[in-house]
Amino acid sequence: LQAVHTNIIPQLITTKTDDQQHYFRVLMTGAQGVGKSSIIDQFMTSEFLGSGNFNVSQSEEDRTITLQVDGEESTLEFMQSEDFQNQEECFQIDGFVAVYNITDRISFDIAIDIMKQIREEVGTNKAIILVGNKSDLVRKRTISQDEGRSAADSYGCKYIEISAALNHNVDELLVGIHKQIILKCDANED
Ligand code: GDP
Repeated sequence: LQAVHTNIIPQLITTKTDDQQHYFRVLMTGAQGVGKSSIIDQFMTSEFLGSGNFNVSQSEEDRTITLQVDGEESTLEFMQSEDFQNQEECFQIDGFVAVYNITDRISFDIAIDIMKQIREEVGTNKAIILVGNKSDLVRKRTISQDEGRSAADSYGCKYIEISAALNHNVDELLVGIHKQIILKCDANED
């Protein structure tokens, strides 16, 4: 199980050119089978029916989503650990999503380890969202919302429960990732 998430954090560089300012890389992490690919697939087909001054467009090919929020455009690129063939590759991750399955305690423990590892290696200036997926499997739930939320709180992370299968709270997650990244960017500039 250790092997599932070792080396999830590739080498980070902090320089960015101006034209990349609204281009953010998001790493989806978590144990196998928790629904990472399903969540990205849902993002890629989202029509963004939620309220708010939002517009969304996707590029399936490079797994990017462009959000227009109050006239400002941001592009989010979604990556998984297996996308990195070369750990020395130079890139920057702007936000991390640690996914677990609410019916699977082992996946929850792995997500906690991931949050811990990210905080130890990159500090507090990166957005991390803890995601409890498969909220549709109500009868099999083993992790309560309270437990999820308090784990997230203790690592300074945001928390949300979703169901990729039912497309429940998936748009909210997308908006949340974007919001947290922007908040961290603003805080880091101060
Ligand atoms: P990954 O290994 O983390 O990328 O996980 P996948 O996206 O491949 O999903 C693993 C399995 O869980 C697949 O059979 C999915 O259909 C299923 N799955 C993903 N999300 C949900 C969900 O929200 N609810 C339920 N019931 N099943 C899901």
